[in-house]
Amino acid sequence: MNQRPVVEPGAAGAAEAGPGPGTGALRRPIVAANWKMNLGPSRAAAFFAAFRLGPNVSRVRLQFFVPAVSLAAARTAAKVAAEFGIQNVHWEREGALTGETSAEMAREAGVALALVGHSERRHVFGETDAEVARKTRAVSRAGLTPVVCVGERLEERRAGRLEEVLRRQVGAFVGALAGAKEWMVAYEPVWAIGTGETATPQDAFEAHEIVRAALGEAGPGPILYGGSVKPGNAAELLGVHGVDGVLVGGASLDPAEFAGIVAAAT
Ligand code: PEP
Repeated sequence: MNQRPVVEPGAAGAAEAGPGPGTGALRRPIVAANWKMNLGPSRAAAFFAAFRLGPNVSRVRLQFFVPAVSLAAARTAAKVAAEFGIQNVHWEREGALTGETSAEMAREAGVALALVGHSERRHVFGETDAEVARKTRAVSRAGLTPVVCVGERLEERRAGRLEEVLRRQVGAFVGALAGAKEWMVAYEPVWAIGTGETATPQDAFEAHEIVRAALGEAGPGPILYGGSVKPGNAAELLGVHGVDGVLVGGASLDPAEFAGIVAAAT
């Protein structure tokens, strides 16, 4: 494994952290909220009414993946510069697919980004690598930014299969990034999502190196870390070489906690 320092000097100043491959010397760290199936329209509006950010927030790229039905309320209530995303799409443009939303429809509703292959989609809803690739292609086709999630289960890590799993997951969708004007990948170890367990800086560094190497042919793009990010560990994780931002679930539901994570990134 690479011998560079895992944590950049001045970790909390991630905006000045040395060039993560392809992200440029003055990258803007990404702080993304994944509300999952939480915060309907009225609670989404209440979130933004209570969401107060400190100075230098323009140094952060702020994103909210909200429930589709809360999108309009969230966009209206947000008084901060933020991008909005959808948490899942179907790969077809339209049709007899009850309950599904296409990337084109999401774009029309003001969405700029789409999560693809989140661990809950893969492991609760049984989404396969092939489906993740089709969705990635559909999101790119619609002109949205795919944020494709990868990550190993605990038993896979314990069995020494981290690299194999990440390479397989990335290999399945990397070709589908070709048409995207922009893309991102989120490394989210399944064992760290919603568990309070966080990857160590060394874990995150090693996994990001594997993901970046596997993405090789797709060129440079930001890679986020996700898994129990909190105000208390965000600065350290954002300071890890190759970590270009964080994807936050549980802690993004509380305006003060999420503002604390944004502050850690500035
Ligand atoms: C997520 O849902 O993407 C996530 C990382 O959740 P949590 O922060 O709650 O672990």
